[in-house]
Amino acid sequence: MPYSRATDIPPQLTRMADGTIKQRNPFSDTEVWTVPDRANRPIGQAPLNPKPINDHEAHCAFCADRILETPPEKARITREGEDARITYGTRVDDLAEPWEFRRVGNLFEIVSYSYWQKNYGYAMPVSAQKRMENYLADPAGRAHVLAVARAKALAAHTSDEQWETMEEFDRLQMAQPFFGGCHDLILARRHFIDGATDDSQLASAGTLTPTEHEWYTRLTVDAMRDLYDQNRYAKYVQVFQNWLRPAGASFDHLHKQLVAIDERSVNARLEAHKVRANPNYYNEAAVDYAGYQNLVVAENKNAVAIAGFGHRYPTLEVWSRSSACQPWEHTPDELRDMSDLLHAMHAATGVHVPTNEEWYCRPIDMDVPMPWRVLLKWRVSTLAGFEGGTKIYVNTIDPWSLRDRVVPQLLELRAEGKISQNIHIATECSCRVNSLRYNPNLA
Ligand SMILES: [Zn+2]
Repeated sequence: MPYSRATDIPPQLTRMADGTIKQRNPFSDTEVWTVPDRANRPIGQAPLNPKPINDHEAHCAFCADRILETPPEKARITREGEDARITYGTRVDDLAEPWEFRRVGNLFEIVSYSYWQKNYGYAMPVSAQKRMENYLADPAGRAHVLAVARAKALAAHTSDEQWETMEEFDRLQMAQPFFGGCHDLILARRHFIDGATDDSQLASAGTLTPTEHEWYTRLTVDAMRDLYDQNRYAKYVQVFQNWLRPAGASFDHLHKQLVAIDERSVNARLEAHKVRANPNYYNEAAVDYAGYQNLVVAENKNAVAIAGFGHRYPTLEVWSRSSACQPWEHTPDELRDMSDLLHAMHAATGVHVPTNEEWYCRPIDMDVPMPWRVLLKWRVSTLAGFEGGTKIYVNTIDPWSLRDRVVPQLLELRAEGKISQNIHIATECSCRVNSLRYNPNLA
């Protein structure tokens, strides 16, 4: 492929005479083709036979009325006038008090507490240990912990008889991850939208208000910082959100996950080489390139959203323009702007499209400046043998078609007041180059 004289970056989008579009991901080099006439399938249809609901607050284990089925709460964010406040270590008696989003350990950890213990000699911080002791000293707290530990044990093929014969000490050992584990969930309050009558009326990230979405983001970012603080062996904390079963969610109740791992992500490793060679790579190869291809779908002062290219699934990308790399180093305004654009992308995607939201951030031990970005992938196709054999992925919606689906939705949502009013959409965007200020050379 001919290299652009201006940037030494090969073209990432090539349109063939028949309409086929070949895409290359500037970071992973993933090859993706979009072939004509496959893009018009309807996606994100509401379920055909919605069922009436009579258990709004108790539909799944993440629901508000089943709060004792989840482990003890690490933190929550609570409405306070127009704003909200994060508090830590909720006491069992206070669990039923009003909340907006809450943080608990995941009962079924991807990277377990014992992984950290056995491989690194990790021990939970003294503050978490203290909290566990206080929680267990309260009979209601102890009963809560033992009930959740029992449910976890039974799900992991321990029989009722085995549980009954276990010493309480061993039962309580199983509760350590609830306090000191490094795989957390951020749970939304609603399963269904307010006033829902059937089970198709789910509360997704896009049905939150922009303010609620900022609280959701704020609590997640706080949890991310906290996981790094609590576990010095963690090199990366992956934040993600699976929405609906085809995207890997076990419940259709809105939640995010944070998983600490002891390695840099493969993505960050691949990117590091490119960014060392060209520190401005994220501007040139991603956001500016998208601007030249008219793929910028929205922006505000501190963030920009583009229709991504070179992804296996149609993907919207939200990029932070902050000079700070880590989310918790963002100012409240910068965080709000990231949240507003991400919220708008979810709202424009619609509640019935299965999605993966993936956060990409600089690993904690990496010296290369990397901006925070969030990818929203529409899980609307299934990979098959063609992809497995060729490692060329067929994506049914090309980036321009993705833009054209999203932009009218954004305009409508803004007019209806359902997304932030401080968003520029498509042709209103400045598309100024080098808008990502992560690169210290631009300062
Ligand atoms: Zn639920």
